Amino acid sequence: MDYITTIGLEIHCELKTATKIFCSCPNVFGGEPNTHCCPICSGFPGVLPVLNKKAVEYTVRAGLALGCKINEYSKWDRKNYFYPDLPKAWQTSQYDLPLCGAGRVDYRLNGETRSVRINRIHLEEDAGKLVHEGGVTKVDYNRCGVPLMEIVTEPDLHSAEEVVAFLEELKSRLKYTGVSDVKMQEGSLRCDVNLSVAPEGRLGTRTETKNLNSFRAVARSVEFEAARQKKILSGGGKVVQETRRWDDGAGEGYSMRSKENAHDYRYFPEPDLMPVIMTAADVERIRADVPMLKNERVAKYTGQYGLPEYDAGILTSDREIADLFDGAVELGAAPKKASNYIMSEVLRKGKTEGSEDVTVGISSRQLYEILSLVDNGTVSLAATREVLENIWLSDKSPAAAVEELGLKQNNDSGAIEAVLKEIIAANPKVVADYKAGNAKVTAFFVGQVMKATKGKANPKIINELLPKLIGD
Ligand code: ADP
Ligand code: MG
Ligand code: ZN
Repeated sequence: MDYITTIGLEIHCELKTATKIFCSCPNVFGGEPNTHCCPICSGFPGVLPVLNKKAVEYTVRAGLALGCKINEYSKWDRKNYFYPDLPKAWQTSQYDLPLCGAGRVDYRLNGETRSVRINRIHLEEDAGKLVHEGGVTKVDYNRCGVPLMEIVTEPDLHSAEEVVAFLEELKSRLKYTGVSDVKMQEGSLRCDVNLSVAPEGRLGTRTETKNLNSFRAVARSVEFEAARQKKILSGGGKVVQETRRWDDGAGEGYSMRSKENAHDYRYFPEPDLMPVIMTAADVERIRADVPMLKNERVAKYTGQYGLPEYDAGILTSDREIADLFDGAVELGAAPKKASNYIMSEVLRKGKTEGSEDVTVGISSRQLYEILSLVDNGTVSLAATREVLENIWLSDKSPAAAVEELGLKQNNDSGAIEAVLKEIIAANPKVVADYKAGNAKVTAFFVGQVMKATKGKANPKIINELLPKLIGD
């Protein structure tokens, strides 16, 4: 029998507001355990939450970027469960009336546009972290109360390939809106996979897999779980509705607990918080903060700047990269040169092995300056690699780095001419080749001069001198 795999995602995304959702503790990643906490976020009895307006605005902004309807009236609920990472023993969340309702996200796969319906987006507080160490489990409440947005999709996905392509689109949009860092490795983007298998036209019993911290892990777990369920069904068995965990090292999922139902959480309205009212005017004000998303930038780069589709795709794959590019062009860099430099050098340095996250370690101004230094002959393109290493993640000026590292290009044509003359005299055979019209040997001369000058001679000058010195 032919089985169809059906997948719906629940995506948690930490918002990068300055402070937590219900208190004024800083919202920062990491830190010494239990140092970003107060009586409110560590769940002391009798304290009162104060809603962070920015968290609400960010969620609405994300909702707009995902095509969601923004609900005028939404409210808060308590989701009760007892676990050491949740000191209050309930999570303040939104149950029946979330901030954002239905939406739709179109994404591209294999040259086709496909779409996923968004069911809802609600806002809630993140829980703390359990640290298992040397046989004991410790609790770190720093993450308690970090604003967390949950995006729930309809079960519109059918393969690992589709899931990853959709998540890439989603991640890009969230990053562009500026509401989150969306780093899977740091946990600011987390994804739970609900998956079922059934003959076409029916929905089977689903399992939910948690603990997926890279797109690769998501893809592998989808394949694993679909195969597992198909095997059960074709053997005449029944899939058990349960929550599972993914062990990326072992490359397999395992059962964690039987799936809880909404009534297990005994949801009830949060008495300590007012409902949220979003007027049409509020929504319009927030809509103005939604920046140009990926598709619009691709159109600008290919249209206005004449860049190839491929380049525009890479430059816009991440908002930070697109901003780096836009900023340098605004300062006066030639778009094609800035684009080439980002694609070859900046991304070579900024991409981390085995991760979809990118670090952009230079500013637009630094990029613009590097390109100017190459343009005016101060430094060779090859030597900027060392400059990049030197200024990465600092605000140091490229010119200062060139000076400090002694990378200044030699533009003294008299000195270069002297070196070139010696090389010409020592290599009569190559000179004969050159005269015979073999243009390829030019590279030999440039290479020899570079070797003699430790890479500092300006290749442009060598190329100009060569025909003059060899002549006919
Ligand atoms: P719960 O509240 O129990 O988590 P939801 O209705 O919120 O259930 O659904 C959670 C996720 O599971 C959604 O992303 C939804 O698309 C997905 N889902 C629901 N039913 C199925 C199914 N039969 N197969 C795959 N995914 C499903
Ligand atoms: Mg749910
Ligand atoms: Zn606090």
